[in-house]
Amino acid sequence: QCTLRCPVGALIERPDWHRVLEVLDDRKRKTIVQTAPATRVAISEEFGLEPGTISTGRMINALRQLGFDYVTDTNFSADLTIMEEANELLQRVQGKREGALPLFTSCCPGWINYVEIHRPDLIPHLSTTKSPQQMHGAMARNGPLAKLIAEETEEEPFIVSIMPCTAKKDEAVRPGNRGDIDAVITTRELAKMIRHRNIPFASLSNDGKYDSPMGDSSGAAAIFGASGGVLEAALRTAADALGLDGPIEHEGIRGVERGVKVATIEGLGSVAAVSSIGSAIDLLSNDEWKKKFLMIEVMTCPGGCLGGGGEPKSDDKDILKKRMKGIYNIDSSSTIRKSHENKEVQQLYDNFLGSPLSETSERLLHTTYAARGSPREKLSQFLGAVDVRDH
Ligand code: SF4
Repeated sequence: QCTLRCPVGALIERPDWHRVLEVLDDRKRKTIVQTAPATRVAISEEFGLEPGTISTGRMINALRQLGFDYVTDTNFSADLTIMEEANELLQRVQGKREGALPLFTSCCPGWINYVEIHRPDLIPHLSTTKSPQQMHGAMARNGPLAKLIAEETEEEPFIVSIMPCTAKKDEAVRPGNRGDIDAVITTRELAKMIRHRNIPFASLSNDGKYDSPMGDSSGAAAIFGASGGVLEAALRTAADALGLDGPIEHEGIRGVERGVKVATIEGLGSVAAVSSIGSAIDLLSNDEWKKKFLMIEVMTCPGGCLGGGGEPKSDDKDILKKRMKGIYNIDSSSTIRKSHENKEVQQLYDNFLGSPLSETSERLLHTTYAARGSPREKLSQFLGAVDVRDH
């Protein structure tokens, strides 16, 4: 299992769960929590359930027992990410938007840090869309849910993310993101909070439901937790936008193995999903990638977020496969499997954002990147490969 691969944020990871419990106990501020795609499967292992068990409802019920006022889903914002990113891809292809092709995905902070520190020449290729975590924070802070809360209290809500990823703590304090998320805790930290409060997770009913708004999601959002998932979700939406026939599932870019997985979509081109930073470095070692691909997803953890540094530790050599199976089962059993068919996302565009890449969307849902290669940052990234994070 990959607990060593989140290349930045590792050394500066700090436990935040005590601070979150204090805010929950204090009850002075409304609290909003979001749960990342990979967390709902991996949390099961912390409480003795079979690896791969889908515990979405149990996790929601546990979060309510912990005292969160609004339990929302990062998967909602994964769908929102696809709306922005797929449209960005199409506009770059049509020459209507600045930026280079192939388009690199931008939802993995380990990858963003690598580009900014080691390969700033690739910045024009990065999608400007914020990650689902940050889009969720921006929407919770400024969108319809914020308006709802403002009717009850003048205090700003306290917004918490549950992430499979140690580097997400670093992402939340990047310039341009700061202030949207108040605390990021990992799946392991959530398990500590649940144990600390003696909540019997394994025997909780698995029927909890997310709040609305910001609780609905598609199967496409669920697969963000696995390597190749962001790309597959984007392909589903881009293919529909172009009126292309094709399969909804893209087996060629699925799987937890390190390396480069490729799919070719007739009428669109070839795309690649890169699993692990070592595989990305290999791919980028010559310029072939520029000629071959239209879009490239990079996840620095082998297998994607389901193998993230904040996930439970395991000695099971098949653990990533088991988690992946759980994640793809969520997708295949979803009624809605394409991000653009998410009704809550459609309402958000109708009532608040206008359209993908609108002025409001650009202001709240997009970001910028900059080269930053100080020796200290390079050293921090190098040392990030050492697992010193457990506490
Ligand atoms: Fe974090 Fe996922 Fe990237 Fe790993 S692959 S660094 S868990 S976002």
